Amino acid sequence: MRSGDIQVLDGGNASRLLHSVDAFVFDCDGVIWKGNELIDGVSDTLHLLRSQGKKLVFVTNNSTKSRTQYASKFLSLGISVSQDEIFSSSFAAAMYLKSVQYPPDKKVYVVGGEGILEELHLAGFTAFGGPEDAHKTIQLKENPFFHHDNDVGAVVVGLDPYINFYKLQYATLCIRENPGCLFVATNRDAVGHMTNLQEWPGAGCMVAAVCGSTQKEPIVVGKPSTFMMDFLLKKFRIDTSRMCMVGDRLDTDILFGQSAGCKTLLVLSGVTTLSILQDSANNILPDYYTDKVSDLLQLLGP
Ligand code: PLP
Ligand code: CA
Repeated sequence: MRSGDIQVLDGGNASRLLHSVDAFVFDCDGVIWKGNELIDGVSDTLHLLRSQGKKLVFVTNNSTKSRTQYASKFLSLGISVSQDEIFSSSFAAAMYLKSVQYPPDKKVYVVGGEGILEELHLAGFTAFGGPEDAHKTIQLKENPFFHHDNDVGAVVVGLDPYINFYKLQYATLCIRENPGCLFVATNRDAVGHMTNLQEWPGAGCMVAAVCGSTQKEPIVVGKPSTFMMDFLLKKFRIDTSRMCMVGDRLDTDILFGQSAGCKTLLVLSGVTTLSILQDSANNILPDYYTDKVSDLLQLLGP
């Protein structure tokens, strides 16, 4: 890290940051919560920002839930967030298919969780796979011929704790044999906090499995791809120079904010440590960094 390129958040620059932005885009895991636990002071900080008239948006690469399920998760943690303020990679997958005018008579095969299926159904698509294929097996010794649906025009891959050989074969045949079949990945995170105490394999490994069998690269709709940012900018008509992206990962969140021209604030409450940030091999530098979101409250509060 080149010294002087980034600033630790203090009373002076926190106040300048607050005055120079109209909207804060928050990453969720590692910033708002860790697994199922709220990070200390988040609720009061969001309250302060709302009371100052700031627009708040929440973006997560975790595709396992739909926006409705995320709104319930926020509420269970004592934070009221409207569904319209939430952008999950499950929603992004559905919005991506809408944006390319995916024909409604074509079907979508899902290697992933309920969140992706729910968002695809809400957007009017016929989607199947996911949890309903969790226990399907293939008896290879019976020398079966595996049938797949020729009307599948897109395969969406996200975090799937029940990934199996059946799902991989289904996805592979659709992508390899159905002409023009799209291969969409919700995100490529290597690991995720499925629980509070540990990291678990992330969607990146399921996506890699399908890349391996198809020798194709997916369209990625989650961070750091600009798809979600472009979508939320269009929706809220916010000027990116007056937005601040707050995240705990350099290669997803901070890159996501920087690519759009936002100010960026790295919090050290998630996966990035000070030594990762300061490593000479790291070239993704946020404008500011601080320990946790609630430092904003402490620095700006009365
Ligand atoms: N994917 C999965 C499965 C996760 O569990 C997580 C974090 O817990 C993520 C992605 C990253 O989520 P976020 O973008 O909110 O940090
Ligand atoms: Ca995160």
